[in-house]
Amino acid sequence: MKVLIAVKRVVDANVKVGVRSDSTGVDITNVKMSMNPFDEIAVEQAVRLKEAGVASEVIVASCGSSQAQETLRTALAIGADRAVLVETTVDLQPLAVAKVLKALVDKERPSLVILGKQAIDDDSNQTGQMLAALAGLPQGTFASKMVLADGKVTVSREVDGGAETLSLTLPAIVTTDLRLNEPRYVTLPNIMKAKKKPLETMKPEDLDVDVTPRLKTLKVTDPPKRSAGVMVHDVKTLVGKLKTEAKVL
Ligand code: AMP
Repeated sequence: MKVLIAVKRVVDANVKVGVRSDSTGVDITNVKMSMNPFDEIAVEQAVRLKEAGVASEVIVASCGSSQAQETLRTALAIGADRAVLVETTVDLQPLAVAKVLKALVDKERPSLVILGKQAIDDDSNQTGQMLAALAGLPQGTFASKMVLADGKVTVSREVDGGAETLSLTLPAIVTTDLRLNEPRYVTLPNIMKAKKKPLETMKPEDLDVDVTPRLKTLKVTDPPKRSAGVMVHDVKTLVGKLKTEAKVL
């Protein structure tokens, strides 16, 4: 069984980014980039399926600049078998990525596609859902547990006030939530091994996909500054301030 994983190169989760002076976006010059954390969970899940003898091949795919090769090499070091980079300098929006992934699904015919529930840079939370619609496949989003058996994947997802369990017939699309697993650390020997694993590069045009942006960002601004908190010395003053000054938003 083939498993396809989508991985995005994003600003590292520990980096605090700032808005560009012309308000056109976030300044990412010289900042540390890493694999989107939810995608690391997706790769880990697929590699576990391979180790359990359920998956036969794990393919990782990324769309973006040539630097995304680094992200793909990390996925190969976690244990994926081969990688595909769909290279473009266009600023990709979720619909464009979903179309590229749909073309890869048509080409590779995986039984399972795992994506992150959202990319932590744009927080769109759209690509998996759009891919499921374009490919006409069932989707289990925000998976906190998944079990494969008898041509089906059972997905548990946390919903308001409880848990929901879905049964999807393969092939299917799953998106990962934080609780699904804890990704392993990449070891040096595996980083070395990953250098020899196949990494194919193609362009969106090779897949007949138009990735032209459909949405225009008008403005990006910093969040409003919060005023400093006030320290009080005793409970009486605190209760007094709560009565007279505290506001409910
Ligand atoms: P989003 O809809 O942008 O929040 O992204 C959801 C998921 O789609 C991510 O966690 C990735 O698995 C996948 N994805 C988004 N953008 C890309 C990209 N440029 N290349 C590969 N996968 C992507």
